[in-house]
Amino acid sequence: MYDHDVLIIGAGLAGMRAALAATEAGVNVAVVSKVHPVRSHSNAAQGGINAALTDRGDDWRDHAYDTIKGSDFLGDQDAIEIMCREAGDEVIAMEHMGAIFNRDEEGRLGTRNFGGQRQARTFFVADFTGQALLHVLYEQIVKAGALVYEEWFVLSLIERDGECGGVVMMDIRTGKIEVVRAKAVIMAAGGLGRVFEPSTNAMICTGDGMSLAYKAGASLMDMEMVQYHPTTLKGSGVLISEAARGEGAYLLNSENDRFMLKYAPEFKELASRDVVSRCEQTEINEGRGIDGCVLLDVRHLGEKYISERLSQIRELAMDFANVDMAKEPVPIMPGMHYQMGGVKANVDGETGVPGLYAAGEVACVSVHGGNRLGANSLLDTLVFGRRSGVHAAERAKNTSHLSIDDSAAKPDRENIERLLLNDKNESFGKIRFDMGTAMKEHFGVFRENSSMAEGISKLSLIKERAQSVYVADKTNTFNTNLLFTLELGFMIECAETIASSAFDRTESRGAHTRTDMPDRDDENWLKHIVVSDKDGKPNISYQDVVITDWTPTVRQY
Ligand SMILES: Cc1cc2nc3c(=O)[nH]c(=O)nc-3n(C[C@H](O)[C@H](O)[C@H](O)COP(=O)(O)OP(=O)(O)OC[C@H]3O[C@@H](n4cnc5c(N)ncnc54)[C@H](O)[C@@H]3O)c2cc1C
Repeated sequence: MYDHDVLIIGAGLAGMRAALAATEAGVNVAVVSKVHPVRSHSNAAQGGINAALTDRGDDWRDHAYDTIKGSDFLGDQDAIEIMCREAGDEVIAMEHMGAIFNRDEEGRLGTRNFGGQRQARTFFVADFTGQALLHVLYEQIVKAGALVYEEWFVLSLIERDGECGGVVMMDIRTGKIEVVRAKAVIMAAGGLGRVFEPSTNAMICTGDGMSLAYKAGASLMDMEMVQYHPTTLKGSGVLISEAARGEGAYLLNSENDRFMLKYAPEFKELASRDVVSRCEQTEINEGRGIDGCVLLDVRHLGEKYISERLSQIRELAMDFANVDMAKEPVPIMPGMHYQMGGVKANVDGETGVPGLYAAGEVACVSVHGGNRLGANSLLDTLVFGRRSGVHAAERAKNTSHLSIDDSAAKPDRENIERLLLNDKNESFGKIRFDMGTAMKEHFGVFRENSSMAEGISKLSLIKERAQSVYVADKTNTFNTNLLFTLELGFMIECAETIASSAFDRTESRGAHTRTDMPDRDDENWLKHIVVSDKDGKPNISYQDVVITDWTPTVRQY
């Protein structure tokens, strides 16, 4: 058994920013990650991070309004204000820690345009911003002395009388299962992209954190809000960053028509993501697509500019679609990218379970509401990661460990034994794929009542099949077969909460677009859907959206 003041689950940007803040506050901090920290999905972030800097003639209030409008007025405005106000300091802090951002001609931090924003306020490192920030933060937490449990897998949270007092986790290298007590646990386990197939997310983005927190009594919020990114590569679904459109790329249909001029005359290709994805899907559905795709054209930017600013995505398009974007347009389609919802948390990361915090993509402070603006997620991870770290450290200074011993690991040990002894014949891979494709079919860009009902029935069959997964590998060393099976359990739980929330929302807002109910209904639905676990089933309640200065209006781009 191990003891720490603050234990952070996840070593992406949110987890490491929290770790740095908590370590600086003078408590004992450990981070656990199922992969090496710099292999976390934050590493894949390409485009950049938003901040409104006053010396550029920008104003955090404009950033806040763009975010609120982007969220289709579902984001909580008090939280958005905090995120946008603190953005500038956070970006500058990263720069001072060693992140080498691109510069403009005058040598100042440079910006690029991003979707849904009236001002270029996205700071970037070429098209590998996440990687640059993640490496800098890893150096910082090592220097600050936070302990990292690398390649450990969290199996459950330990909850006693409604409080969270630690976790049960498994050393992936040896199969050893340990109890870790902590006075505060910060959930920073990232998103659930792989609940959908295909997805831009890494294979490890399996919603573990949302499911773990949900089972420990925390609520999930805005789960119906699943972002489809407008530009993912044909076939694989690999992301082509919004940076491409930020730098000036066009979207074309099979008739060589730049169709966004018609749908969004002002913002064009840089309307918010939900809008552009719907326009593309409409073009494809109405027969103006090419083999289920439309085209992304950057040729007019010139080869030199493309290799300087978009080198990584050029390589991705060559490797995964065999297309050199400097010479040909790239076939792209809307693809699952981001979960706006997550563990309901306040602006200090507190969830409804004392001792349990949440930050980053796993959390829902609701700064993204119905649709996240590109480059606001990296910002969310840093601002709310830091705030959670500070708050959790404060709690740790004022509380003692709950009385927990090694027996807390018994249910997980028994569960793993049961999985290994199972002699049925279902394969986790097949179930995972069937679930992902069902989610895309029934809860993708466009939704509709009877299709969602069908999706829900498919999910209950999938849940039943998951009881019969056969784990072929019976050993303790790097048993990825067992890990994937455990992840499948987390994913199914997330899928159920997405499906039940989507079915419940009888309007269209942000990423949740119902063809049978196409209008936004502020009178009845200016509220969040909150899901909690009741006897193994999602139980729905509601919470009003916080409005401060910005009254909802019709959203046009
Ligand atoms: C391809 C791509 C490009 C993107 N580009 C941008 C961009 O340009 N700008 C932007 O703002 N956003 C972007 N995003 C979104 C953004 O990158 C993510 O939302 C954000 O990085 C998530 O950070 P995080 O710290 O919350 O989680 P992650 O970085 O996903 O980290 C999760 C951590 O949790 C750990 N973990 C999970 N489950 C367990 C478990 N059971 N046990 C132990 N550890 C566990 C993992 O090991 C990992 O360390 C992009 C996303 C993708 C997929």
